[in-house]
Amino acid sequence: MQLPEKRPYNLSFIVTHECNLRCAYCYESNRDNAQLDADQVKRIISEYLNNEKYGSVQIDFFGGEPWLKFDLIKEVCEWVWERQWKNKYLFFTTTNGTLVHGEVKEWLGKNKERFWCGLSLDGTRETHNKNRSNSFDKIDLDFFLECWPKQTVKMTISPLSIDNFADDIIFIQEKGFLIAGTNFAEGIDWNDKKYLSIVSKQLEKLVRFYLDNPQYEIAQIINLAIEHCESPKKAYKWCGTGDNMRIYDIDGKHYPCSFFTPMTFKKEQLDALKSIDFSDHSLFVDKYCADNCYLFNICPNCYGANYLVNGKFNERDKSRCNLVKLQAYYASALQAQKIIAKSSNIEVSEKNKVALQIRAIEKINDICQKELFIE
Ligand code: SF4
Ligand code: SF4
Repeated sequence: MQLPEKRPYNLSFIVTHECNLRCAYCYESNRDNAQLDADQVKRIISEYLNNEKYGSVQIDFFGGEPWLKFDLIKEVCEWVWERQWKNKYLFFTTTNGTLVHGEVKEWLGKNKERFWCGLSLDGTRETHNKNRSNSFDKIDLDFFLECWPKQTVKMTISPLSIDNFADDIIFIQEKGFLIAGTNFAEGIDWNDKKYLSIVSKQLEKLVRFYLDNPQYEIAQIINLAIEHCESPKKAYKWCGTGDNMRIYDIDGKHYPCSFFTPMTFKKEQLDALKSIDFSDHSLFVDKYCADNCYLFNICPNCYGANYLVNGKFNERDKSRCNLVKLQAYYASALQAQKIIAKSSNIEVSEKNKVALQIRAIEKINDICQKELFIE
């Protein structure tokens, strides 16, 4: 069943804490093998699918590696599919792909319209194997492409793969996948000077690739809406944690999103969040960033990662500032080339946006030359 355009409510279940891989950058530290009760999941799903206030619902199975619990997922989905509900829904999971073979693959192939799978893929065989437990050859990439051609893959860059990420992105796109946000691994001091020139070279390579190959969609890593830097800074929450999403753990307790769970944090850390009103967006604003940083409106922000790194969900992880500046710098370089290429052909409706982009390009260049010593 396809969901309508409006953003669906995101209802997730951690079906297992266990994973069959040990990825280099995984921040989930609790790996017990507790079991989720299928009847409890059915009861919870019923509440959401019968209550019109939720509208359409995306039901995610989360892990660990969710396909370790194929029997449970199959039982729950088939139970739901046999019944009528007030709300529209779609099942989804992100997987490492290594268990999508045999009966799992057959079942998914039959149900690909109503159960979508997103794949975690870090790039070429060599990179993927370094980051993700030598698992590249255990994934049937063509099956994922064939079943869900519009689904993006999730890519993570770690210190092990930092010097090759341009080729990794290019590999993924040339293979035919759409690429979502490219995440830099959590818990690394990316401001360390040793990463500056490496990241810079990789982003420069991507700029050249997209200029030479305009048929590819520009990966988000340098596809930043730099013109938003010229808008007033808004006190808004970057994502829907605790608003239009909820994740249930194996014991039936629920949390604001997949980051704030006992797989990552201790009980005391999660208890400390109970009094937070997640609907009050002003609590989620880093005042220092809002008052001092030109890039505030385009700097991505994960409150779970903030909490992991510095114990405060609303204090942005500043160990990424240099990455954000470099991304903005190369996004500007790419935008500048595009503006030059169509300078005599800019539509009236685009002129305002282009003017904002030009102002942003100048300011971002200035900031990066001063703060990152880019010439
Ligand atoms: S806090 Fe982080 S993990 Fe949670 S919804 Fe926001 S961006 Fe996603
Ligand atoms: S780049 Fe750094 S200072 Fe600027 S908004 Fe992001 S975290 Fe804050």
